[in-house]
Formats: sequence, C-alpha cells, structure tokens
Amino acid sequence: MAEEFEEPVRVVDIKHYLYCPRIVYFDRVARAEERVFSQQSKSLEEHERLEKLEKRRVGGFFYSGELVDAEKVFQLRLRSERLNLEGVLDCLLRLGKEAVPVDYKYMRSMRGRAWLDHRYQLTAYALLVEDKLDCVVRRGFIYYVPEDRVVEVSVDEGMKRYVKRLIKRVEYMMHGEELPPVRVPPSKCAGCGFFWICRRV
Ligand code: SF4
Repeated sequence: MAEEFEEPVRVVDIKHYLYCPRIVYFDRVARAEERVFSQQSKSLEEHERLEKLEKRRVGGFFYSGELVDAEKVFQLRLRSERLNLEGVLDCLLRLGKEAVPVDYKYMRSMRGRAWLDHRYQLTAYALLVEDKLDCVVRRGFIYYVPEDRVVEVSVDEGMKRYVKRLIKRVEYMMHGEELPPVRVPPSKCAGCGFFWICRRV
C-alpha cells in the first residue's frame, strides 16, 4: 500500500516533471498562478470541438483499423489510491479485453514521433486504466491535433516501472519543498506559464 498523501500526484505532474521539474515546484508547492497563453486557451475550445467530432467517428477506426468496433469513453476520470495518482483521460478505446488510452495534444509531434514527456504521460494513464479495469495496457495513441496525426505508443513494463519511480519523485518534491535548480535549456522556457516567477534564477 502506498504511503498516504493528502493530495495525489496528477498525471500532468508526470509530464511536467519530465519537461522541467521546476514546473511541478511552482504548480504544486508554491501554488503560483500559471499564466496561460492565448494558444493554450484556444486549446480548450478546440478540445470541445474535437470531442464532438470524435463522437461522430465510427469506433476507434480513426486510430487503427483493428479498433473499428471499439467503444469510446470520453473524459474518463481515473484515480488510484494504490498508486497515489489521478487524472482525466481524453478518450479510452475498449474492444474485448483490450483497453487503449488516447491523449489529445494541441501541438505538433516530434517530427512524426511522440515527445518523451507525452509518452510517459500516456504510460501514467495506462497504469490508472489497468488499476481501474483490471486489465493490461500495452499501447496507446497520442493525437497531435494541429497535424491531424495519430502516433501509436507501445507501453511496456519498463515504462510503467519508470512512471512509478516518477510518482515517488513528485511526492518527494511536493513534501520536500525545495526549489530544484534550472536544468533545462532556455529554448524550453519559451511559452512556459511559470516563466514570470521562475526567470531561471
Ligand atoms: S521557465 Fe524554464 S526553468 Fe523555469 S519552470 Fe519554466 S521551463 Fe522550467
């Protein structure tokens, strides 16, 4: 049984931690305001539009021909006390014993591949889906909306173990309350909603 914490780690914390651990500090420890850019608020409107479009698409055919008969569940709220993790999954495809998480991203892929933080974010969802549905998740999809590109991501046991270690690191940060040093290149700070407080100092 995981040690009990007042607030669980969120799936988005895993993504943030991999992108830049300072984001987790400013968001979860300092509780600083994230200054959302117009591009990000546009994404929220886009999300609603996309969900309507997805509801009209047949099963999971858009993601894979094998999943044409899959059921889709949108905005699936997931929480595991055992993992001390929670998140809201954009879409879950279910066909027989297979469960396939789908995450929407309102940005471009890494030249046709999934970014590392996105792969591990999807893995965190896979762990939550396994915990809820008592199944094994072996793959998921990331839909890069501006490119209309679907990227399949294999999810293996090593990735799941790594995410479990990341959950512990985030827990430690949430309770250790120390500002991590800057470890990312300046190019990663463009568009960061916490730049106003961080300033890489
Ligand atoms: S501004 Fe850069 S260093 Fe600071 S939190 Fe954002 S990404 Fe990290």
